[in-house]
Amino acid sequence: MRPTKAIIHLSSLEHNIAEIKKLLSRQTRLCVPVKADAYGHGAVQCSRKALESGADCLGIATVSEGVELRDAGIIAPVLLFSSPLGDEISEVVSRNLTPFVFEPFCIRLLEEEAARRGKTATVHLKVDTGMSRVGCRPEDAASLARLIVQCKHLKLGGMATHFAVSDSLENNDEVFTHEQFRRFTAAVAAVKREGVDPGICHCANSSATLRYPETHLDMVRPGIMVYGCYPGDYRKGAPVLAEKHPVNLEPVMDVVTQITAVKDIPLGTSVSYGRRWTSAASARIATLPIGYADGLRRRLSLTGFVVAVGDKHCPVRGTICMDQCMIDLTAAPDAAVGDKATVFGAKCRGAIFDAGALGELIGTIPYEILTSMSRRVPRIYRQFTAEGYPGDLEPRPDRRNLHPVWGHSRC
Ligand SMILES: *Cc1c(COP(=O)(O)O)cnc(C)c1O
Repeated sequence: MRPTKAIIHLSSLEHNIAEIKKLLSRQTRLCVPVKADAYGHGAVQCSRKALESGADCLGIATVSEGVELRDAGIIAPVLLFSSPLGDEISEVVSRNLTPFVFEPFCIRLLEEEAARRGKTATVHLKVDTGMSRVGCRPEDAASLARLIVQCKHLKLGGMATHFAVSDSLENNDEVFTHEQFRRFTAAVAAVKREGVDPGICHCANSSATLRYPETHLDMVRPGIMVYGCYPGDYRKGAPVLAEKHPVNLEPVMDVVTQITAVKDIPLGTSVSYGRRWTSAASARIATLPIGYADGLRRRLSLTGFVVAVGDKHCPVRGTICMDQCMIDLTAAPDAAVGDKATVFGAKCRGAIFDAGALGELIGTIPYEILTSMSRRVPRIYRQFTAEGYPGDLEPRPDRRNLHPVWGHSRC
């Protein structure tokens, strides 16, 4: 196997969920977003682990992501954070996915499909309170809720909204988050006044789960924290957030590789495409078999990005190539071909950068770093047990997920 791997520490995922649950009251349910292949960590494996660790339901962005979970035998409630279109309608109904709905056309199509199949489809009404992405206007929530409950084959399982700036520490952003929450609770109240049970009400992403306990309501949907990162933009205050709201999170993904070549170069030797770095003295350079096609963004070249070889800090030199990059072994002169290099991950496991700090180098967020790791990088699952790490877990064989279900009827 190619030495470049993403080691997925399922024990850390379990640990993070336990840490998040400490923030919640007993009645608050936990939806774990596993969209985008569980933020790059592997949707099926992470879903199983999340459910074993006490998640009540899973969150996805696309219908095909839901089909993948169902094909793997996962029967827990799956919340689709969007509305289906076209032939996705029948898939949503047949696979018991619970979509967000926010306009009459989709509601009618879902009703027709559920009627055709003799089923009841559960939907959640999505309210746009300030994200301007998907959702109905707050003032339309009551009439849409009424429309849903008048459909004989639909059930209103819940109501949701999504925050735009709940990670920001700026005062006006905090005001905006409070205003979004006010609009949402007003929409829920209007639905109740209409005589309709709004079902499970939920709005909190990671940062709201952390910072705004009043927004927890019936369920929270923290994604990035489950994968071990603080939400938001690191330059805009994620470290401050971590200080103010200490939760003991562990990054779940470590990206590791091995040195494939070592060479000594004299002063004045350029390294990599574009000759953008030239040695100012003689140097020892190693090559790593990881590049931008693996998800190591090319923009990380010449940014001060440093890889760990053992416990030594080795800066990347020159331009990151498609499949390889070069590092400076000045700090680790004894390193040899085959030695392990940790590209990013948990500091406690030897990484220098975590996904958040790496993102900061190029002006992006940990979400983008994690979801950028390409299919070419195999995910290796590890689970800490009483005996320590019993070797690398191969992807587990499919097995029915036996987690007790809180019912398709409810989510
Ligand atoms: C992605 C997403 C989340 C999770 O957001 P995090 O910032 O990762 O916690 C929650 N809800 C919706 C609707 C989302 O799209």
